[in-house]
Amino acid sequence: MNLRSLYTKFSLTTIAIMFISGLLAFMYSNFYYQQKLKPQNDEKNTTIALNIANYIEENPHIDIADYLDHLSAVGYQFLLINEQNDERFFGAPFRNNTLSEETKESVLRGEVFHGMLEFPRETFITGFFSNELMNSIGVPLKQGEDHYALFMRPDIKMLFNEMHFLFAWILLLTVILSIIFVLIGVRYLIHPISKLTKATKELSEGNFSIELEIDREDEIGNLAASFTNMARQLKKLDDMKNEFISNVTHDLQSPLANIKGYVSLLEKETLSKEEKADYIAIINNETNRLSNLSKQLLLLSSLEQEDGFVNKQSYNLSEQLKEVIYNHQWLIQEKAIMVSYSLKDVSVVGDPSLLYNVWDNLLTNAIKYNNVNGEINIMVEEDTSFIHVSFTDTGVGLSAEAKEKIFDRFYREDQARTRSIEGSGLGLSIVEFIVQLHEGEIFVESEKGKGSTFMIKLPVNSENSQTSI
Ligand code: ADP
Repeated sequence: MNLRSLYTKFSLTTIAIMFISGLLAFMYSNFYYQQKLKPQNDEKNTTIALNIANYIEENPHIDIADYLDHLSAVGYQFLLINEQNDERFFGAPFRNNTLSEETKESVLRGEVFHGMLEFPRETFITGFFSNELMNSIGVPLKQGEDHYALFMRPDIKMLFNEMHFLFAWILLLTVILSIIFVLIGVRYLIHPISKLTKATKELSEGNFSIELEIDREDEIGNLAASFTNMARQLKKLDDMKNEFISNVTHDLQSPLANIKGYVSLLEKETLSKEEKADYIAIINNETNRLSNLSKQLLLLSSLEQEDGFVNKQSYNLSEQLKEVIYNHQWLIQEKAIMVSYSLKDVSVVGDPSLLYNVWDNLLTNAIKYNNVNGEINIMVEEDTSFIHVSFTDTGVGLSAEAKEKIFDRFYREDQARTRSIEGSGLGLSIVEFIVQLHEGEIFVESEKGKGSTFMIKLPVNSENSQTSI
């Protein structure tokens, strides 16, 4: 296993956190024992020891050794010292029998020894379990004329032995199970990340059709969903790019082939004057097609490179629209289209050559996708905040599906049909780009077979209102 992998790091960190928390919890409970429980424990055991001493004092006939033997059988350890300093132990032995002579004497003299309370503080050892004589309660004891010192401590091992095992098992099982669950849990958490990493690598190698099987509602799930979405978009772009290249290649190839063909025909000396003129016209036409396509490509790439750079000025919009219509007269007449317009005399603030492109594209489309004898209506209106320009035609219209896509780069509805109509699918994306550069919006309303209306909304800004006064 790679030690630097996220899985290893995550598992080790979680396990380390568990151990550190365990250690801190132990230290805190020890501190709590030292501060709170130790005095209580001392007090409780002092009461028990004094009760034992009282009982013996009140029953002078009782045999002390028998009685202490009896008590040790129910869970206590004792040391009994008489005035001659004879020591007798009852019950389980102490692990450490050290006790100063001074202490022994003071208890014999009648003082109570609070060994449990005075037992030294140590951070990592809970004094409660320390089976030492020092950790006991010493009480004076009198039976008749005899004085004794009685040291007592509960036999923890006897009282809590089973509990000890129980706790040890609980602790051991908790640690083992936690480690197992951490390892499984972390795998569950990390697994999708490995999948994502693999998918990213595949994506960078150009495989866009990635389906991630990550179905989660958390952040990783969201990330996976965004990733899949991104891969789909990239795939779409890639498909569009490939289609565009094939379109452009086709659109470049066919006029070039035509030009080449007609140029070699022109070389023939037997050509009539009319034939020559026809061929030259065709060559001219094809050259225009090529020039239009390269202009569009250049415009798109320059718009993208100089994103946001618009050379704005205030100028008469209606004049510009009339100029556009005038420049298309020949095409309009060729298709016998009737053009009507209602152009309110407004000034717009914008880049004239870029906006010219917008009107030019919209009018060209309205002619291209119109029927012979069709109609085109162009309108300009203005309200307090916007200038509205609309191009309505009675042409082929758009399907609902096409309406969604016409602003996508390189999109052309019904490839087979539009092959016969010139175009690259770039016009409307250029239009949308320019309108957005002018902080405007473009909408389309259309019905298949009935015609379309393209509406453009451009903001009237302060500079504009000044010039229109
Ligand atoms: P093109 O160079 O193919 O005209 P555009 O980006 O200008 O490219 O238009 C994209 C597609 O939208 C066209 O191929 C055509 O199918 C459709 N379209 C654009 N304008 C109209 C219109 N006025 N009426 C019908 N369809 C249109």
